[in-house]
Amino acid sequence: MAVKIPRTPAREQDPAVRAANFDEVCYGYSAEEAMLEASRCIQCKKPGCMEACPVNVKIPQFIREALSGSFAEAARVIAQDSSLPAVCGRVCPQETQCEGACILGVKGEPVNIGKLERFVADWSMSNNLNLTETVSPNGRRVAVVGSGPAGLACASDLAKMGYAVKIFEALHKAGGVLEYGIPEFRLPKERVVKREIDNVRKLGVEIETNVVVGRTVTIDSLMKDEKFDAVFIGSGAGLPKFMGIPGENLNGVVSANEFLTRANLMKAYESCYDTPIYVGKRVAVVGGGNVAMDAARTAKRLGADVCVVYRRSEKELPARVEEVHHAKEEGIAFRMLTNPVAVLGTDSGWVRGLRCIRMELGAPDADGRRSPVEVKGSEFDVETDVVIMSLGTSPNPLIASTTPGLEGNRRGCLVATEAGATTRAGVFAGGDAVTGAATVILAMGAGRVAAKAIDEYVRST
Ligand SMILES: Cc1cc2nc3c(=O)[nH]c(=O)nc-3n(C[C@H](O)[C@H](O)[C@H](O)COP(=O)(O)OP(=O)(O)OC[C@H]3O[C@@H](n4cnc5c(N)ncnc54)[C@H](O)[C@@H]3O)c2cc1C
Repeated sequence: MAVKIPRTPAREQDPAVRAANFDEVCYGYSAEEAMLEASRCIQCKKPGCMEACPVNVKIPQFIREALSGSFAEAARVIAQDSSLPAVCGRVCPQETQCEGACILGVKGEPVNIGKLERFVADWSMSNNLNLTETVSPNGRRVAVVGSGPAGLACASDLAKMGYAVKIFEALHKAGGVLEYGIPEFRLPKERVVKREIDNVRKLGVEIETNVVVGRTVTIDSLMKDEKFDAVFIGSGAGLPKFMGIPGENLNGVVSANEFLTRANLMKAYESCYDTPIYVGKRVAVVGGGNVAMDAARTAKRLGADVCVVYRRSEKELPARVEEVHHAKEEGIAFRMLTNPVAVLGTDSGWVRGLRCIRMELGAPDADGRRSPVEVKGSEFDVETDVVIMSLGTSPNPLIASTTPGLEGNRRGCLVATEAGATTRAGVFAGGDAVTGAATVILAMGAGRVAAKAIDEYVRST
């Protein structure tokens, strides 16, 4: 009988050390480790992993190349379908996508597809592999709003079809959440995000930053005055939600979005930058998603004692198990079945605490999750200097409100078909702007689907 090879673990920074620095937590695989892990793939005839990947990376094929040490070829296989493999290898929820469909996972542990993708992508970057194909221009132009994963994926595919593509980005740096939201210790900016965006630029995609579509220009001016043949909107869901409880306007209450943007984009954690961020001694993060984990782990690295306040129990935490595990290892406390009812302030208007109430789980709601119910009379106070609200985000209404005929729904998301067509002819959309906050790979998948639909539309005009 063949000896079963166990899943190859990826080396990580010691939790006690990493809780005080912003260096990447996971070191990834060496070439030997990657080849060992690649040898676990049984090369299914009908690969479920590939179907479960929203951009359909040819997973068995790239793993086969990696197994024989042909890392350049493996990188070429991935590049056919993904413009951001080093990003996806780091942040995709593989456990619910490719790895969730791996046949080895039925009786044991799935192939570590994420770490293999990350290894191949990192190898190709450190060996300066040129993955750019030369294509002849087709003479048509497409504008893309937003340089997050949706916009970058759409732009890459269109550029590969011969379109002249220009991305308009509101911020001063490209990348969307990859740049301003996901922390450096999970996704290095210069070493990974910038280099993958540079690869998109090498395809001929132009990126203009500091352009707020809806203010600096409009969708109509892009189409009528600047004569773009079509527009793709990948403007994300960056508008934070708050609880609406007393004291939320005190100094020291911030949204996770603002907190992480200050840390990542404004480099608040580096002493040479003059845009610091206040964390005080204690930080309470309200919410239980991946964004809450990122905010909590960032606050910890900035020197605070951090607790996560969540209204359901640990079982219902929406964050990835790996993120919760890492947060706990780094010393973050969790207050489960707890909900804030007011933020408490000092006479000078600064946060001094959070009044909370205990919760218990009641009947399941429409999603099948048990609803949290307040336990009457169980209020108690938690001392804290800063409260970070991490309750989800929705799309900014600016573009919908400045584009006649572009419909949004009740949740503030743009209305679009599966192919990305909006209610305005020639205007397509995808990613968080359409679905609400989701994932990098789903946004990329939507960008790719829309690129196809844009091509069909432009050819028909
Ligand atoms: C802190 C955090 C951690 C996350 N962690 C993960 C993770 O580990 N794994 C995962 O898969 N997903 C994660 N996500 C979710 C994921 O990052 C998003 O689903 C994904 O980035 C959505 O891509 P997008 O291109 O639709 O939007 P975005 O990434 O939000 O990009 C939209 C871009 O459009 C720009 N823009 C907005 N309005 C305008 C305008 N009017 N004019 C011009 N430009 C505009 C924005 O500045 C932004 O750059 C995380 C999200 C956050 C906030």
